[in-house]
Amino acid sequence: MLTADEYIKSLRKLNLKVYLFGELVDNVVDHPVIKPSINSVARTYELAADPDYREVMTAQSSLNRQVINRFTHLHQSTEDLIKKIKMQRILGQETASCFQRCVGFDAFNAVDSVTFEMDKKLDTDYHHRFRRFIQQVQEKDLVVDGAMTDPKGDRSLRPSQQADPDLYLRLVEEREDGIVVKGAKTHQTGALCSHEILAMPTVAMGEEDSNYALCFAVPSDSDNLVYIYGRQSSDTRKLEGGNIDVGNCRYGGHEALVIFDNVFVPKERVFMCGEYEFSGSLVERFAGYHRQSYGGCKVGVGDVLIGAAAQIAEYNGVQRASHIRDKIIEMVNLNETIYSCGIACSSQGVPTASGTYLIDLLLANVCKQNVTRYPYEIARLAEDIAGGLMVTLPSEKDFNHPEAGKYLKKYLKGVDGVKTENRLRMLRLLENMTLGTAAVGYRTESMHGAGSPQAQRIMISRQADLENKKKMARAIAGIEEEKQ
Ligand code: SF4
Ligand code: FE
Repeated sequence: MLTADEYIKSLRKLNLKVYLFGELVDNVVDHPVIKPSINSVARTYELAADPDYREVMTAQSSLNRQVINRFTHLHQSTEDLIKKIKMQRILGQETASCFQRCVGFDAFNAVDSVTFEMDKKLDTDYHHRFRRFIQQVQEKDLVVDGAMTDPKGDRSLRPSQQADPDLYLRLVEEREDGIVVKGAKTHQTGALCSHEILAMPTVAMGEEDSNYALCFAVPSDSDNLVYIYGRQSSDTRKLEGGNIDVGNCRYGGHEALVIFDNVFVPKERVFMCGEYEFSGSLVERFAGYHRQSYGGCKVGVGDVLIGAAAQIAEYNGVQRASHIRDKIIEMVNLNETIYSCGIACSSQGVPTASGTYLIDLLLANVCKQNVTRYPYEIARLAEDIAGGLMVTLPSEKDFNHPEAGKYLKKYLKGVDGVKTENRLRMLRLLENMTLGTAAVGYRTESMHGAGSPQAQRIMISRQADLENKKKMARAIAGIEEEKQ
C-alpha cells in the first residue's frame, strides 16, 4: 500500500491538462482550490496505515492474497460490503467532505461481475483483461475515477439520435491494437485526484447505439484528455489565505468535466465494445453500489453536521431548550435511518457468478431514495439551530482588523468562556456544509449523485414484485384464485 506522501508524489508525476477559472493549471497538486480534495483522498491512505483502522480500511486481496487498501478490493462477502459502509462513514466523519475514492471502487466491482457474465455468454475475453487491470490497481494502490455520466444532450433522444453524435461517449475508430473514443463525461468526482479513468456506458443501450456501449480504462494523463474543473459556491474563499471563512480548514471534494478528444485505448484496456445488451446491467450494478455508498459517506458527513449544530447550540447558550434537543434527536434519527439502509442492503448482499458480492438492489435504491430527502431535512434543522448569523457574518479579514475586529469580538460573542473566534468557526463550518463548497457533496449530490430520485423509483418499482404482494392480499382476504 502507498503512504499518503507517496500518493501525493504519484499525483505530481501526472501531466493533466486542467482548466480552472479560465486558465490552464500549472501545478494541480498545490493549487489552493484543488488541494483540499487531494487531502481528502490522501486521508484514505493515511487511515489504511493506521493500526486502529486497519480492520476496516484494508482487506486481503482475492487476486493475490496481499493486504490491500479496501478501496481497491473486490467484495468477497457481505462482511466486506458492511465494512465498506463503515469505512465510508469514518471517512465522512474525518473529512466532512466527499473523499472521492468510492466511485472507481463501485465501478470496478460492477465491471468485474458484468465482464464475467459477458465472456460466458459471448465467448469474449473481457474479464481476463479486466482482472489484469484490477490487479495493477491493487498492487500499485491506485485511485480510479469511475466515469459514467455522459452529457446526454436532448434527454428525449437515444445516443445515436442526438444532433451531435459526441454527446454520448462513442467509438470513433477500431484498430488492431485498440480503439479511439470521443465524447465527454460530466461531473466526474475526484477526476484530478485519480490515476486511472474507468469509463462505462451511462444508460441501457439498444443495437442502434452499439457504438456507445463502451467500457474501458485509460491513465488519467492520457493524450487528448482535457479536464475542466467544476466550481463550487464560495470556492474563491480558498484563495483568500485565511482558515476561518473556508469553514473546513483542510478537506474538500471536486467534480470536473472530462473530455475525451479522440483518446486511444489499448486493446487490453477495453472491457466492453459494442455488447449493448450488457450495458443495462453494468449501469444498474454500478448505480446500486454507489447508492449503497451513500448509506456510509453521507452519514459520516451528517455526524459532523449534527455535531456542529449541537456545538453551536452550546456556544449560543440554547442547548437545554427542549425544542433544540428535539431537533438534534430528529437529526440523529434521520441520519441513522440512512445508515440502517446502507447496512441492510450490504448484509443482504449475494455473490455474483464472478464471486464478487453484489448488494441487495432494492434496499440500495431505497437507501439512496432516503438520501435524496433526509440530508436536506438535517441541513434545514442545522440552519434552524445555527441562527441567521451563519449567513450575515463579516469576513475573517474584518475579524482580524485592529478596529473592526475589536467590535466583532465584543458583539458577536455568545456564552461567556467561549472565544468569539470559535463561535465564528463553528458557524462557518455549518455554512460550508449547508451552503458552501461541501454542500455540493452533502446536498445536491444527495439528490443527483448515483442517479436522480426518479431513477431509484424506477428501480424500486422493478424490484417491488407487486404481483406477489397482491397474491398475498388475495390469500389473506380469502379470495380464490380465478381460473384464466
Ligand atoms: Fe464516496 Fe460519497 Fe464522494 Fe460518492 S459522494 S465518492 S460515495 S464520499
Ligand atoms: Fe457521488
